[in-house]
Amino acid sequence: MVVFTCNACGEAVKKAQVEKHVNICRNCQCLSCMDCGKDFWGDDYKEHVKCVSEDQKYGGKGFEAKIHKGDAKQQEWIQKIHEVLKKPSISPKVRNILEQMRAFDNIPRKKVKFQ
Ligand SMILES: [Zn+2]
Ligand SMILES: [Zn+2]
Repeated sequence: MVVFTCNACGEAVKKAQVEKHVNICRNCQCLSCMDCGKDFWGDDYKEHVKCVSEDQKYGGKGFEAKIHKGDAKQQEWIQKIHEVLKKPSISPKVRNILEQMRAFDNIPRKKVKFQ
């Protein structure tokens, strides 16, 4: 939830309560976002649905890291397959399968699926 500060009375007003606040606070013309500090005149605050800094603070970062972690794991896995392929000892049949699999990015990591 985006929270604004009323520039007239200095009160913290949640976005859902802005309309109510404007009725009470007659001098309220400009609202500043508490998170990013931007000023919003008149009805401009309505456009401010989600604050960027709020997104970064709650989960935005974690979400990104999660994706990145999964991606790194996948890369590691692909790397492993490439290493196996380099070994001269593997049977031509296995090599053939692995060669085919190399074309895909989403090689299943679970043993059952893999087989
Ligand atoms: Zn006010
Ligand atoms: Zn903001």
